[in-house]
Amino acid sequence: MTNKQSKNISLHWRRTKIIATLGPASTSTKMLEKLIKAGVNVFRLNMSHGSHDEHRAAFQLVRDTANRLNEHIAILMDLCGPKIRTGRFKTGEITLKKNSTVSISCSATMGEAGLITSQYTNLYKDVKKGERILLDDGNLELRVEKVSGQNISCKVIHGGILKDNKGINLPDSKVSVSSFTAKDKKDVKLAMELGADFVALSFVRNKKDIHVLDTYMQKNGNQIPIIAKIEKPEAITNIDDILSVSYGIMVARGDLGIELPAEQVPLIQKDLIHKARHLNRPVIVATQMLESMIEHSRPTRAEVGDVANAALLGTDAVMLSGETAVGKYPIDAVKTMNCVLREIEAHQWQNNNFGGRDNNQNKGAKLSIRKAVSYAVTSLAHDLQLQGIVVPTMTGTTAQILAASRPTSPLLGVSPYVHICRKLALHWGVIPINANEDDTHDWKQLSISIARQCKLTKTGNTVLLVSGFSDNPDLNEPVMKILNV
Ligand code: PEP
Repeated sequence: MTNKQSKNISLHWRRTKIIATLGPASTSTKMLEKLIKAGVNVFRLNMSHGSHDEHRAAFQLVRDTANRLNEHIAILMDLCGPKIRTGRFKTGEITLKKNSTVSISCSATMGEAGLITSQYTNLYKDVKKGERILLDDGNLELRVEKVSGQNISCKVIHGGILKDNKGINLPDSKVSVSSFTAKDKKDVKLAMELGADFVALSFVRNKKDIHVLDTYMQKNGNQIPIIAKIEKPEAITNIDDILSVSYGIMVARGDLGIELPAEQVPLIQKDLIHKARHLNRPVIVATQMLESMIEHSRPTRAEVGDVANAALLGTDAVMLSGETAVGKYPIDAVKTMNCVLREIEAHQWQNNNFGGRDNNQNKGAKLSIRKAVSYAVTSLAHDLQLQGIVVPTMTGTTAQILAASRPTSPLLGVSPYVHICRKLALHWGVIPINANEDDTHDWKQLSISIARQCKLTKTGNTVLLVSGFSDNPDLNEPVMKILNV
């Protein structure tokens, strides 16, 4: 076996997963087919836009196309949360001049020169003198001078043109609105009805926000794994708590970079990836990854560097937003991501450095059984140059935990349940395989046939079978078996 041969087979599967947001540019059978073939693992339905009928149709189209292509593709429904917005202007837009005074009214219905309206009618209760109000993705900045009645008088710090319905961010204020809104309730009901694989909750501040959504789903009979979108400074402060109750997290850099100085985002991203992986949680890096490809067929060098950096940091997934939802080059954007990720992964594989064991975390402390076993698996993958790691998984947990240690050998997550296979589509390095339930009585035989099917046996014959992780401590009895296939 040459190194080149084994590299070719091992790297047949891209480890870092790609999420593409659906929109007018991508929601057709033909486009979905091309996007899946170009490498999309998860589609995101952004509930901030579109009607329920449109989302229903898009959802079905994804399911039908994925089934036809025989691919395990997950669907993430992203709840819009309490995105605060300005209202409309009589003239469609106004100009805010630096150092001038402008009022924000929570009761007026139409804005005009010197007057902005707020769709969030409690805004005047949440802001105080001296706090910043950012408008239109942080492009414009106001400072509160006085709150009187339902009117907020502000000084313009950074001026410019303000159009209808632009976002308002309040980085200095404690916003009282719940992160699970009335609209989110309707949207999550739709997600439950359709059977979405994940729901993302926007503007999470603490673990209570996650509990509210979780309890709502529990009462309504279908619990979907929750991805907490980290986009508020409070979420950074409460990250350990949030991670403890969420399925995974998204580094939502769009709003995060407005609420916090943008220069702080790269180190926060690094830290969040680190923390999520340590707790075996999947992590998604999102927003503006290939932003210029909305208009252009080629990315900027800086964007390529951004995607590469996310892969080097060991994120589970990278996400495309406008690039695939409304961009001119959705397929090229996915192909670009795929190429950049593969280039980085080839380098990591060659250097046996997918960022596996983290010696800085838990220095000297006893590891959990799960973590210790997953490190042992990663170590065996390297030392025995395993052709693959076969992981029988009923709930996805075992594959999820092993993936967090980033082993070098392909990780085959084998489940008799298609919904578990779809869930695994989000996790770094997991190749979801749907097995016939009858075949799962003889895992040795099944491992041999999977290894052959996946052509792993072309480069050698050692496969590791790992099973037995459970969320129930009484049933958590991991077993490793080295098989000669
Ligand atoms: C973000 O702010 O980065 C994000 C992903 O959220 P949205 O696209 O819903 O604004």
